[in-house]
Amino acid sequence: MFPLTFFSARFAVLFFLFVSFWPWEKDPGEVKKSSFKIPEDPALLSRVRVALFYEKPEVQIGVPGPYELKGFPGEETLAQGAFLSPTSIRADRSGIRVGPRLYPLSGLRITSQKKELQIEKKKYGDAIQVLKNPLGSLTVVNEIDMEEYLKGVLPSEMKALWPEEALKAQAVISRTYAVFKNIENQDFPFTLGSGTGSQVYGGKGVEMRLASRAVDRTRGEILTSRSKIFPTFFHSTCGGRTTRAEYQWKIEPHPSLRGVECSFCRVSPYYQWKAEYTGSEIRTLLAKKKFSVSQIQSITPAELDVSGHPRFFEVRHSQGSSKIPANEFRLAVGANRMRSTRVTIQRSGDRFLFLGRGWGHGVGLCQYGAKRLAELGYNYKQILHYYYPESDLQNLEDSFGTGVWSQKPPAEEGTFVGRWFRKAQSYLEDL
Ligand SMILES: [Zn+2]
Repeated sequence: MFPLTFFSARFAVLFFLFVSFWPWEKDPGEVKKSSFKIPEDPALLSRVRVALFYEKPEVQIGVPGPYELKGFPGEETLAQGAFLSPTSIRADRSGIRVGPRLYPLSGLRITSQKKELQIEKKKYGDAIQVLKNPLGSLTVVNEIDMEEYLKGVLPSEMKALWPEEALKAQAVISRTYAVFKNIENQDFPFTLGSGTGSQVYGGKGVEMRLASRAVDRTRGEILTSRSKIFPTFFHSTCGGRTTRAEYQWKIEPHPSLRGVECSFCRVSPYYQWKAEYTGSEIRTLLAKKKFSVSQIQSITPAELDVSGHPRFFEVRHSQGSSKIPANEFRLAVGANRMRSTRVTIQRSGDRFLFLGRGWGHGVGLCQYGAKRLAELGYNYKQILHYYYPESDLQNLEDSFGTGVWSQKPPAEEGTFVGRWFRKAQSYLEDL
Protein backbone atom coordinates (compact mmCIF):
# COMPACT_ATOMS: atom_id res chain seq x y z
CA MET A 1 0.00 0.00 0.00
CA PHE A 2 1.32 3.45 -0.81
CA PRO A 3 1.33 6.30 1.68
CA LEU A 4 -1.72 8.41 0.97
CA THR A 5 0.17 11.51 -0.13
CA PHE A 6 2.18 9.55 -2.67
CA PHE A 7 -0.92 7.90 -4.01
CA SER A 8 -2.81 11.17 -4.31
CA ALA A 9 -0.03 12.89 -6.20
CA ARG A 10 0.37 9.97 -8.54
CA PHE A 11 -3.35 9.70 -9.13
CA ALA A 12 -3.65 13.42 -9.82
CA VAL A 13 -0.98 13.21 -12.50
CA LEU A 14 -2.68 10.30 -14.22
CA PHE A 15 -6.06 11.93 -13.90
CA PHE A 16 -4.76 15.01 -15.64
CA LEU A 17 -3.13 12.97 -18.38
CA PHE A 18 -6.24 10.97 -19.07
CA VAL A 19 -8.64 13.88 -19.04
CA SER A 20 -6.47 15.89 -21.34
CA PHE A 21 -5.21 13.33 -23.78
CA TRP A 22 -7.81 10.78 -24.76
CA PRO A 23 -7.50 10.59 -28.54
CA TRP A 24 -11.20 11.30 -29.04
CA GLU A 25 -10.84 14.56 -27.16
CA LYS A 26 -8.56 16.09 -29.74
CA ASP A 27 -9.61 19.42 -31.15
CA PRO A 28 -12.39 18.49 -33.62
CA GLY A 29 -11.42 21.39 -35.89
CA GLU A 30 -7.87 20.14 -36.28
CA VAL A 31 -6.78 19.17 -39.81
CA LYS A 32 -4.89 15.93 -39.34
CA LYS A 33 -1.53 15.27 -40.97
CA SER A 34 -1.46 12.77 -43.81
CA SER A 35 2.23 11.87 -43.69
CA PHE A 36 4.99 11.34 -41.14
CA LYS A 37 8.67 10.55 -41.32
CA ILE A 38 9.34 6.92 -40.42
CA PRO A 39 10.33 7.02 -36.75
CA GLU A 40 13.57 5.64 -35.40
CA ASP A 41 12.00 4.33 -32.20
CA PRO A 42 11.62 0.59 -32.89
CA ALA A 43 8.68 0.32 -30.48
CA LEU A 44 6.58 2.46 -32.84
CA LEU A 45 7.27 0.01 -35.67
CA SER A 46 7.07 -3.34 -33.97
CA ARG A 47 4.51 -3.03 -31.15
CA VAL A 48 0.96 -1.71 -30.84
CA ARG A 49 -1.26 -0.63 -27.94
CA VAL A 50 -4.84 -1.49 -28.84
CA ALA A 51 -7.81 -0.44 -26.69
CA LEU A 52 -10.12 -3.45 -26.35
CA PHE A 53 -12.63 -1.56 -24.17
CA TYR A 54 -12.83 2.15 -23.44
CA GLU A 55 -15.31 2.50 -20.62
CA LYS A 56 -16.10 -0.74 -18.88
CA PRO A 57 -17.04 -0.95 -15.21
CA GLU A 58 -15.64 -4.47 -14.87
CA VAL A 59 -13.55 -6.90 -16.91
CA GLN A 60 -12.74 -10.61 -16.52
CA ILE A 61 -9.08 -11.45 -17.02
CA GLY A 62 -7.30 -14.80 -16.68
CA VAL A 63 -3.78 -16.01 -17.49
CA PRO A 64 -3.20 -19.70 -18.26
CA GLY A 65 0.44 -19.71 -17.18
CA PRO A 66 2.96 -17.79 -15.09
CA TYR A 67 1.99 -14.17 -14.80
CA GLU A 68 2.98 -10.97 -13.10
CA LEU A 69 0.75 -8.11 -11.95
CA LYS A 70 2.42 -4.71 -11.73
CA GLY A 71 1.37 -1.17 -11.01
CA PHE A 72 1.23 0.95 -14.16
CA PRO A 73 2.95 3.11 -15.05
CA GLY A 74 5.90 1.84 -13.04
CA GLU A 75 7.47 -1.49 -12.39
CA GLU A 76 6.32 -2.35 -8.88
CA THR A 77 5.32 -6.02 -8.70
CA LEU A 78 2.05 -6.44 -6.84
CA ALA A 79 1.44 -10.14 -7.36
CA GLN A 80 2.65 -13.10 -9.34
CA GLY A 81 1.72 -16.73 -9.65
CA ALA A 82 1.66 -19.94 -11.68
CA PHE A 83 -1.61 -18.88 -13.28
CA LEU A 84 -4.52 -16.51 -12.78
CA SER A 85 -7.97 -18.01 -13.04
CA PRO A 86 -10.56 -15.71 -14.68
CA THR A 87 -10.84 -12.89 -12.17
CA SER A 88 -13.07 -9.87 -12.10
CA ILE A 89 -11.23 -6.53 -12.22
CA ARG A 90 -13.36 -3.53 -11.28
CA ALA A 91 -12.94 0.19 -11.02
CA ASP A 92 -13.37 1.27 -7.43
CA ARG A 93 -13.64 4.77 -6.03
CA SER A 94 -10.19 4.54 -4.50
CA GLY A 95 -8.40 2.37 -7.02
CA ILE A 96 -8.76 -0.87 -8.96
CA ARG A 97 -10.10 -4.04 -7.39
CA VAL A 98 -8.66 -7.36 -8.58
CA GLY A 99 -10.89 -10.10 -7.17
CA PRO A 100 -11.33 -9.14 -3.51
CA ARG A 101 -8.15 -7.09 -3.27
CA LEU A 102 -8.08 -3.33 -3.76
CA TYR A 103 -5.02 -1.64 -5.25
CA PRO A 104 -5.00 2.12 -4.69
CA LEU A 105 -3.71 2.81 -8.18
CA SER A 106 -5.06 4.12 -11.45
CA GLY A 107 -3.32 1.56 -13.65
CA LEU A 108 -2.29 -2.11 -13.63
CA ARG A 109 -0.31 -4.18 -16.09
CA ILE A 110 -0.53 -7.95 -16.39
CA THR A 111 2.15 -9.84 -18.28
CA SER A 112 2.01 -13.49 -19.26
CA GLN A 113 5.18 -15.54 -19.60
CA LYS A 114 3.49 -17.67 -22.29
CA LYS A 115 2.14 -14.55 -24.00
CA GLU A 116 -1.43 -15.74 -23.58
CA LEU A 117 -4.21 -14.01 -21.71
CA GLN A 118 -7.96 -14.42 -21.60
CA ILE A 119 -10.07 -11.27 -21.51
CA GLU A 120 -13.85 -11.60 -21.43
CA LYS A 121 -13.54 -15.17 -22.79
CA LYS A 122 -11.39 -14.11 -25.76
CA LYS A 123 -7.71 -14.95 -26.19
CA TYR A 124 -5.07 -12.25 -26.52
CA GLY A 125 -1.29 -12.25 -26.57
CA ASP A 126 1.56 -10.50 -24.72
CA ALA A 127 0.38 -8.04 -22.04
CA ILE A 128 -2.67 -6.14 -20.81
CA GLN A 129 -2.97 -2.71 -19.23
CA VAL A 130 -6.04 -1.93 -17.14
CA LEU A 131 -6.41 1.83 -16.73
CA LYS A 132 -8.90 3.60 -14.53
CA ASN A 133 -10.65 6.47 -16.29
CA PRO A 134 -11.42 9.76 -14.59
CA LEU A 135 -15.12 8.93 -14.51
CA GLY A 136 -14.56 5.63 -12.77
CA SER A 137 -14.67 3.02 -15.53
CA LEU A 138 -11.84 0.96 -17.02
CA THR A 139 -10.00 1.13 -20.31
CA VAL A 140 -8.36 -2.17 -21.25
CA VAL A 141 -5.35 -2.04 -23.57
CA ASN A 142 -3.61 -4.98 -25.22
CA GLU A 143 0.13 -4.42 -25.78
CA ILE A 144 1.15 -6.71 -28.60
CA ASP A 145 3.77 -7.46 -31.20
CA MET A 146 2.83 -5.84 -34.54
CA GLU A 147 2.85 -9.06 -36.59
CA GLU A 148 0.76 -10.93 -34.00
CA TYR A 149 -1.66 -8.01 -33.90
CA LEU A 150 -2.07 -8.18 -37.69
CA LYS A 151 -2.96 -11.88 -37.48
CA GLY A 152 -5.84 -10.87 -35.21
CA VAL A 153 -6.89 -8.10 -37.62
CA LEU A 154 -6.78 -9.70 -41.05
CA PRO A 155 -9.56 -12.31 -40.68
CA SER A 156 -11.88 -9.59 -39.34
CA GLU A 157 -11.11 -7.18 -42.17
CA MET A 158 -11.06 -9.53 -45.17
CA LYS A 159 -12.40 -13.03 -45.76
CA ALA A 160 -9.53 -15.46 -45.19
CA LEU A 161 -10.61 -17.51 -48.24
CA TRP A 162 -10.07 -14.60 -50.63
CA PRO A 163 -7.08 -14.83 -53.01
CA GLU A 164 -3.70 -14.68 -51.33
CA GLU A 165 -2.56 -11.59 -53.23
CA ALA A 166 -5.60 -9.65 -51.95
CA LEU A 167 -4.85 -10.85 -48.40
CA LYS A 168 -1.22 -9.78 -48.76
CA ALA A 169 -2.31 -6.32 -49.96
CA GLN A 170 -4.57 -6.09 -46.90
CA ALA A 171 -1.73 -7.20 -44.60
CA VAL A 172 0.55 -4.44 -45.92
CA ILE A 173 -2.05 -1.71 -45.55
CA SER A 174 -3.18 -2.88 -42.11
CA ARG A 175 0.47 -2.81 -40.99
CA THR A 176 1.03 0.62 -42.54
CA TYR A 177 -2.13 1.98 -40.95
CA ALA A 178 -1.10 0.65 -37.52
CA VAL A 179 2.39 2.18 -37.75
CA PHE A 180 0.85 5.49 -38.87
CA LYS A 181 -1.54 5.49 -35.88
CA ASN A 182 1.35 4.56 -33.56
CA ILE A 183 3.12 7.72 -34.67
CA GLU A 184 0.01 9.91 -34.65
CA ASN A 185 -1.14 8.81 -31.17
CA GLN A 186 2.20 7.99 -29.55
CA ASP A 187 1.60 10.23 -26.52
CA PHE A 188 -1.72 8.60 -25.64
CA PRO A 189 -2.44 5.55 -23.49
CA PHE A 190 -3.29 3.59 -26.64
CA THR A 191 -2.77 4.19 -30.35
CA LEU A 192 -5.53 2.10 -31.94
CA GLY A 193 -9.06 0.99 -31.15
CA SER A 194 -10.29 -2.52 -31.88
CA GLY A 195 -13.55 -1.72 -33.72
CA THR A 196 -14.60 -0.43 -37.13
CA GLY A 197 -13.49 3.13 -36.33
CA SER A 198 -9.94 1.79 -36.40
CA GLN A 199 -9.17 -1.75 -37.62
CA VAL A 200 -11.25 -4.60 -36.25
CA TYR A 201 -9.03 -6.69 -33.95
CA GLY A 202 -10.26 -9.96 -32.48
CA GLY A 203 -7.14 -11.23 -30.71
CA LYS A 204 -5.65 -14.72 -31.00
CA GLY A 205 -8.98 -16.51 -31.12
CA VAL A 206 -9.86 -15.28 -34.62
CA GLU A 207 -6.57 -16.19 -36.32
CA MET A 208 -6.90 -18.13 -39.59
CA ARG A 209 -4.04 -19.99 -41.23
CA LEU A 210 -4.30 -18.39 -44.70
CA ALA A 211 -4.60 -14.88 -43.29
CA SER A 212 -1.64 -15.45 -40.96
CA ARG A 213 0.37 -16.73 -43.93
CA ALA A 214 -0.33 -13.47 -45.79
CA VAL A 215 0.96 -11.55 -42.76
CA ASP A 216 4.11 -13.71 -42.60
CA ARG A 217 4.78 -13.40 -46.34
CA THR A 218 4.71 -9.59 -46.17
CA ARG A 219 6.49 -9.38 -42.83
CA GLY A 220 7.73 -5.85 -42.13
CA GLU A 221 6.40 -4.38 -45.40
CA ILE A 222 4.68 -0.99 -45.36
CA LEU A 223 3.66 1.55 -47.99
CA THR A 224 5.36 4.91 -48.18
CA SER A 225 5.14 7.90 -50.45
CA ARG A 226 8.27 10.01 -50.96
CA SER A 227 9.80 7.99 -48.11
CA LYS A 228 7.09 9.07 -45.66
CA ILE A 229 4.37 6.91 -44.20
CA PHE A 230 0.73 7.81 -44.92
CA PRO A 231 -2.60 6.45 -43.61
CA THR A 232 -3.55 3.57 -45.91
CA PHE A 233 -7.32 3.83 -45.60
CA PHE A 234 -9.38 1.01 -47.08
CA HIS A 235 -13.04 0.15 -47.49
CA SER A 236 -15.29 -2.63 -48.74
CA THR A 237 -16.58 -1.37 -52.12
CA CYS A 238 -16.03 1.95 -53.87
CA GLY A 239 -18.88 1.60 -56.38
CA GLY A 240 -16.92 2.73 -59.46
CA ARG A 241 -14.23 5.14 -58.30
CA THR A 242 -12.42 5.79 -55.04
CA THR A 243 -12.54 9.28 -53.54
CA ARG A 244 -10.22 11.87 -52.00
CA ALA A 245 -9.36 11.54 -48.29
CA GLU A 246 -10.04 15.22 -47.62
CA TYR A 247 -13.61 14.73 -48.82
CA GLN A 248 -14.28 12.33 -45.97
CA TRP A 249 -12.25 13.75 -43.09
CA LYS A 250 -10.39 16.85 -41.94
CA ILE A 251 -7.06 15.68 -43.25
CA GLU A 252 -4.33 17.14 -45.46
CA PRO A 253 -4.72 16.07 -49.13
CA HIS A 254 -2.28 13.32 -50.09
CA PRO A 255 -1.13 12.29 -53.62
CA SER A 256 -1.72 8.59 -52.86
CA LEU A 257 -5.22 9.24 -51.50
CA ARG A 258 -6.76 11.22 -54.33
CA GLY A 259 -8.99 8.55 -55.91
CA VAL A 260 -8.69 6.15 -58.86
CA GLU A 261 -11.07 4.49 -61.33
CA CYS A 262 -12.30 1.09 -60.17
CA SER A 263 -14.69 -0.98 -62.21
CA PHE A 264 -13.47 -4.15 -60.50
CA CYS A 265 -15.89 -4.10 -57.58
CA ARG A 266 -18.99 -4.65 -59.74
CA VAL A 267 -19.11 -8.17 -58.32
CA SER A 268 -19.60 -6.80 -54.81
CA PRO A 269 -23.04 -7.31 -53.27
CA TYR A 270 -22.74 -3.70 -52.09
CA TYR A 271 -22.04 -2.18 -55.51
CA GLN A 272 -25.58 -0.75 -55.53
CA TRP A 273 -27.99 -0.39 -52.66
CA LYS A 274 -30.97 1.61 -51.50
CA ALA A 275 -32.20 2.78 -48.12
CA GLU A 276 -35.32 4.63 -47.09
CA TYR A 277 -35.83 7.13 -44.25
CA THR A 278 -38.63 9.41 -43.20
CA GLY A 279 -37.80 13.10 -42.89
CA SER A 280 -38.51 13.08 -39.15
CA GLU A 281 -36.26 10.04 -38.68
CA ILE A 282 -33.34 11.84 -40.35
CA ARG A 283 -34.06 14.93 -38.28
CA THR A 284 -33.94 12.92 -35.04
CA LEU A 285 -30.75 11.09 -36.03
CA LEU A 286 -29.04 14.35 -37.02
CA ALA A 287 -30.11 16.00 -33.76
CA LYS A 288 -28.40 13.21 -31.77
CA LYS A 289 -25.13 14.31 -33.41
CA LYS A 290 -25.90 17.96 -32.69
CA PHE A 291 -26.95 18.89 -36.24
CA SER A 292 -30.13 20.81 -35.66
CA VAL A 293 -32.59 21.02 -38.59
CA SER A 294 -36.34 21.58 -38.61
CA GLN A 295 -38.80 19.99 -41.05
CA ILE A 296 -36.70 18.68 -43.96
CA GLN A 297 -37.64 19.77 -47.48
CA SER A 298 -34.68 18.43 -49.47
CA ILE A 299 -31.28 16.79 -49.07
CA THR A 300 -28.77 17.43 -51.85
CA PRO A 301 -25.22 16.08 -52.23
CA ALA A 302 -22.95 19.14 -52.72
CA GLU A 303 -19.41 19.71 -54.06
CA LEU A 304 -19.10 16.33 -55.74
CA ASP A 305 -15.65 15.10 -56.72
CA VAL A 306 -15.03 13.21 -59.94
CA SER A 307 -16.03 9.92 -58.24
CA GLY A 308 -19.46 11.26 -57.36
CA HIS A 309 -18.75 11.44 -53.60
CA PRO A 310 -19.97 14.77 -52.17
CA ARG A 311 -18.09 16.87 -49.68
CA PHE A 312 -21.32 18.02 -47.99
CA PHE A 313 -25.01 17.34 -47.87
CA GLU A 314 -27.12 20.45 -48.09
CA VAL A 315 -30.24 19.99 -45.99
CA ARG A 316 -33.00 22.51 -46.74
CA HIS A 317 -35.54 22.75 -43.99
CA SER A 318 -38.38 24.99 -42.84
CA GLN A 319 -35.98 27.27 -40.90
CA GLY A 320 -33.29 27.62 -43.58
CA SER A 321 -30.54 25.30 -44.78
CA SER A 322 -27.55 23.46 -43.26
CA LYS A 323 -24.40 22.21 -44.92
CA ILE A 324 -23.32 19.01 -43.16
CA PRO A 325 -19.96 17.31 -43.93
CA ALA A 326 -20.84 14.22 -45.98
CA ASN A 327 -19.13 11.62 -43.79
CA GLU A 328 -20.60 13.10 -40.62
CA PHE A 329 -24.06 13.00 -42.19
CA ARG A 330 -23.59 9.31 -43.03
CA LEU A 331 -22.30 8.43 -39.55
CA ALA A 332 -25.25 10.28 -38.00
CA VAL A 333 -27.94 8.45 -39.99
CA GLY A 334 -26.19 5.07 -39.66
CA ALA A 335 -23.15 3.93 -41.66
CA ASN A 336 -24.51 0.41 -42.17
CA ARG A 337 -27.81 1.68 -43.52
CA MET A 338 -26.51 4.58 -45.60
CA ARG A 339 -23.61 2.47 -46.82
CA SER A 340 -21.71 5.27 -48.56
CA THR A 341 -21.96 8.98 -49.33
CA ARG A 342 -22.11 8.31 -53.08
CA VAL A 343 -25.89 8.68 -53.39
CA THR A 344 -28.75 10.27 -55.20
CA ILE A 345 -31.70 11.13 -52.99
CA GLN A 346 -35.35 11.10 -54.07
CA ARG A 347 -38.12 12.58 -51.99
CA SER A 348 -41.67 11.30 -52.00
CA GLY A 349 -43.86 13.04 -49.40
CA ASP A 350 -42.05 12.63 -46.09
CA ARG A 351 -40.00 9.69 -47.35
CA PHE A 352 -36.42 10.02 -48.62
CA LEU A 353 -35.08 7.25 -50.82
CA PHE A 354 -31.26 6.97 -50.94
CA LEU A 355 -29.95 5.20 -54.05
CA GLY A 356 -26.30 4.50 -53.43
CA ARG A 357 -23.17 2.84 -54.71
CA GLY A 358 -20.48 1.10 -52.65
CA TRP A 359 -19.94 0.45 -48.97
CA GLY A 360 -17.56 2.47 -46.83
CA HIS A 361 -15.87 5.84 -46.99
CA GLY A 362 -14.45 5.17 -50.47
CA VAL A 363 -10.85 6.23 -49.70
CA GLY A 364 -7.79 4.11 -50.54
CA LEU A 365 -8.02 0.42 -51.38
CA CYS A 366 -11.36 -0.99 -52.51
CA GLN A 367 -11.38 -4.53 -51.06
CA TYR A 368 -13.79 -6.08 -53.57
CA GLY A 369 -11.79 -4.42 -56.34
CA ALA A 370 -8.55 -5.84 -54.90
CA LYS A 371 -10.12 -9.30 -54.77
CA ARG A 372 -11.11 -9.07 -58.43
CA LEU A 373 -7.66 -7.83 -59.47
CA ALA A 374 -6.08 -10.77 -57.59
CA GLU A 375 -8.41 -13.16 -59.43
CA LEU A 376 -7.31 -11.59 -62.71
CA GLY A 377 -3.70 -12.45 -61.85
CA TYR A 378 -2.31 -9.18 -60.46
CA ASN A 379 0.02 -9.47 -57.49
CA TYR A 380 -0.26 -7.54 -54.25
CA LYS A 381 2.40 -5.02 -55.23
CA GLN A 382 0.51 -4.15 -58.43
CA ILE A 383 -2.79 -3.96 -56.51
CA LEU A 384 -1.30 -1.60 -53.93
CA HIS A 385 0.34 0.57 -56.54
CA TYR A 386 -2.99 0.81 -58.37
CA TYR A 387 -5.07 1.96 -55.40
CA TYR A 388 -2.32 4.12 -53.86
CA PRO A 389 -0.64 5.94 -56.78
CA GLU A 390 2.81 7.41 -56.13
CA SER A 391 3.44 4.90 -53.35
CA ASP A 392 6.35 2.52 -52.76
CA LEU A 393 6.63 -0.71 -50.86
CA GLN A 394 9.27 -0.52 -48.17
CA ASN A 395 10.46 -3.30 -45.89
CA LEU A 396 11.12 -2.04 -42.38
CA GLU A 397 13.31 -5.04 -41.69
CA ASP A 398 15.60 -3.97 -44.56
CA SER A 399 15.74 -0.45 -43.19
CA PHE A 400 15.97 -1.20 -39.49
CA GLY A 401 17.15 -4.82 -39.29
CA THR A 402 15.28 -7.86 -38.10
CA GLY A 403 16.13 -6.96 -34.50
CA VAL A 404 13.26 -4.48 -34.63
CA TRP A 405 10.91 -7.45 -34.51
CA SER A 406 10.69 -9.60 -31.43
CA GLN A 407 11.03 -13.32 -31.96
CA LYS A 408 7.86 -15.16 -32.78
CA PRO A 409 6.57 -17.05 -29.74
CA PRO A 410 6.56 -20.82 -30.30
CA ALA A 411 3.23 -22.16 -31.56
CA GLU A 412 1.39 -24.04 -28.86
CA GLU A 413 -1.93 -24.58 -30.54
CA GLY A 414 -4.75 -26.01 -28.51
CA THR A 415 -3.10 -25.69 -25.13
CA PHE A 416 -4.77 -22.46 -24.15
CA VAL A 417 -8.26 -23.31 -23.04
CA GLY A 418 -8.26 -27.07 -22.60
CA ARG A 419 -5.65 -28.08 -20.11
CA TRP A 420 -5.51 -25.05 -17.92
CA PHE A 421 -9.00 -23.58 -17.80
CA ARG A 422 -10.83 -26.82 -17.06
CA LYS A 423 -8.68 -27.34 -13.96
CA ALA A 424 -8.81 -23.74 -12.88
CA GLN A 425 -12.45 -22.79 -13.34
CA SER A 426 -13.41 -22.98 -9.68
CA TYR A 427 -10.08 -21.92 -8.26
CA LEU A 428 -9.73 -18.33 -7.17
CA GLU A 429 -6.17 -17.19 -7.16
CA ASP A 430 -5.07 -15.37 -4.04
CA LEU A 431 -4.89 -11.82 -5.34
ZN1 LIG B 1 -14.06 -0.47 -56.34
